[in-house]
Parts: sequence; C-alpha cells; structure tokens
Amino acid sequence: MSSDIDSLLRGAKAYELAKRAIDAMEAHRVWPTAVNFELWLHYVSSKDSEVTQQIASVIESGEQFTEHMGEELAAKHLPSGKLSGELIDAGKSLTEELDSVSRAIESARETSEAYGQQLATASESLQGEDAEAVRVMVETLSQATRRVRDENSALENQLAETTDELGKLREHLEQVRREAMTDGLTNLANRKAFDEALEAACQGPVTLAIVDIDHFKSFNDTWGHQTGDQVIRYVASVIGRIAEAGQRFAARYGGEEFAVIFPGEAPGVALQALEQAREEISSRILKRRSTNEDLGAITISGGIAEKQPGETPVMLLERADEALYASKNAGRNRNTLAGLDEASKAKPRAA
Ligand code: GH3
Ligand code: MG
Ligand code: MG
Repeated sequence: MSSDIDSLLRGAKAYELAKRAIDAMEAHRVWPTAVNFELWLHYVSSKDSEVTQQIASVIESGEQFTEHMGEELAAKHLPSGKLSGELIDAGKSLTEELDSVSRAIESARETSEAYGQQLATASESLQGEDAEAVRVMVETLSQATRRVRDENSALENQLAETTDELGKLREHLEQVRREAMTDGLTNLANRKAFDEALEAACQGPVTLAIVDIDHFKSFNDTWGHQTGDQVIRYVASVIGRIAEAGQRFAARYGGEEFAVIFPGEAPGVALQALEQAREEISSRILKRRSTNEDLGAITISGGIAEKQPGETPVMLLERADEALYASKNAGRNRNTLAGLDEASKAKPRAA
C-alpha cells in the first residue's frame, strides 16, 4: 500500500495530490502529522481502500478526526517500518520540485515587471512630441501599454498567489518531514534520523556513545509500562542535554536505548559527558507523578567507541555495542570505552 503512495508522490500529479491531501486535512481540522499525511493521501487518491472508507465514515459522522484515530488506522492498515522513510524521501523530492517551480515563477515575475517598466518609459518619452502622427501613435502605444500593464499586474497577482500557496505547501511538508525524523515519546531524533546523522558524521573523525537503561524490563514489570514511558522521557531529557553543546546529536536509538554522536570529539570527552549523565540519573530518586510514590533510582550503562580509519557506521556501532555489553557484564551503572579489536580485524592484514 505504501509503495502506491510512494509512486503517486513521485508521479506527475505529486504536488496536486499532496496539496489535495493537505487541503482536505485543513478542511477537517486534522493535525498534519506524518501519519495523518499518509492516511489522507490515501483518502484523496483512492476511492475504495479500507483507509479511505474509514476516513469517509468518520467525516460523515461529523466526529473530529483525532490523532488517536490516525494512529489506530495507521497501525492497522499502513506498513509501519517503511512509513517514515518513504515519507521523508517523498517529502524531499517534493521540496526540491517546489523549489524549482518557485524559482521559475520568480524569474517570470521579474521579466514581466521589467517589460512593463520598459513600455512605461517608452510611452513617457514619446508624449513630449506634438506632430499629429506622433500624437496618434502615442495614444495607441499608451493604450497598448496600459493593457499590457493591466495584464501584467493580473499575472503578477496570480503568480504571487501561486508562490504563496507553494510556500505554504512547502512549510507543511517541512513539518511532516520534521515529525517523521522525531521520536514521538521523547522528542529526540528517531532511529531514521540517527542513521542519517551517523552516516554523515562518519565522513570525519567521530566518537559514538550508546546508552541503555539497566534492568528496565523489571522496572516495567514492577511499576507498569506507563510509568516506564515517563522514565524513558526523563532519561531522554538528560541524554538530550549532552547534545546541547557543539555539533553533538542525540537520538532514541531503540526502546530504552539512546545514542549520542560526538563529531570531531575524543572518546575521553564523550566519556566525561556520559559519566555526568550516569551520575545525575543514578542519584535521583524517581517519584510517580500522580501519587508521589517513591520508585527508587534507576541506572544506565554506556558504551563508547571512536571511529577508526576505514571503519563503517555499522562497524562503529558494533564496537560501541560491545562496549555497552562489557558495561552490563561488569555489573551495569558504568560506561566502557571500546577496544580496537573489531577495528583492527577490519584492516587489511600486513603482508
Ligand atoms: P539490561 O540491564 O540488560 O539492559 O536489562 P533490561 O531489562 O533493560 O534489558 P532488555 O533489553 O531485556 O529489556 C528492555 C526492556 O525495555 C523491554 C521492554 O519491556 C522495555 N521497553 C522497551 N521499549 C519500551 C518503551 O517504549 N516503553 C516502556 N515502558 N518500556 C520499553
Ligand atoms: Mg535494551
Ligand atoms: Mg536495558
């Protein structure tokens, strides 16, 4: 189903469809999240899909289409993993197309303005003459000039409107793309965004850290999943603060795992930042918000690896992961710097 949408978004009618989806969303006051955008693309582009029928029946009932409904529909009918990636790619190519259309319109506008000005100048310079023939010519030319000017200004208005609409559409798409890159629970970057950031960072020297909450399964078992979610948000906020400095990038890597990219920074610096986060988290007694109940403290473990020459993002991740496991095996609530075993294995053997 998702690949249909993908081909629609790459087809000739791409922004007509995207615009119709967004117009329909606006008309029904539907929040333009990535998920809703994909659902409503179905709604405007296929008559008899399950998604279209469900949305139509909500509209018919007069009920507000809520974010919750969107999520339920998506969970049932859209393939989950592929969603964000394809939306991001579609959004990117749409944005590029919109850019080139806006540029074309802008240059047409400049040309027509210049033309109008030229005619106005010519007419002004002729109006000084007094011979009859020139007078008639001036009259004719002035009329033609006024007509062209009127036409130009109508065209300009039209172009301005179109430019405006394209700008709005681009803003919507930008928002959809941002949301597709963000983890909903923690507001940190999600796995997709992380993979891209790591790929980019691996063009240069970089240190990678992975953090995992200790014994989180038993925390969930004891206090419930909802409270577990709150703890994930809390840990995310502490990890997110590490990335407030410099070019650093923090992401929710998986369920209760986080990653921080330290471009151009030494492992020792990353270790210091992680130690600070670890101490802060382990020394805080957590309380359940609703009841003020004491939940005790939680701890985190980390693994840190510095990219070696020739190492791919996957290899770097593997070494950071191994260091994380070393932290777990050594009793948790600690951070470990990765060894170079994997990296040296990857290097060509000396002759
Ligand atoms: P370890 O110290 O070895 O990391 O133990 P652990 O129990 O944390 O590790 P494990 O990977 O076995 O379990 C991770 C648990 O995290 C499993 C799952 O219940 C929980 N979890 C994963 N994602 C979420 C989430 O989004 N919300 C909540 N509340 N729990 C989650
Ligand atoms: Mg884990
Ligand atoms: Mg864990």
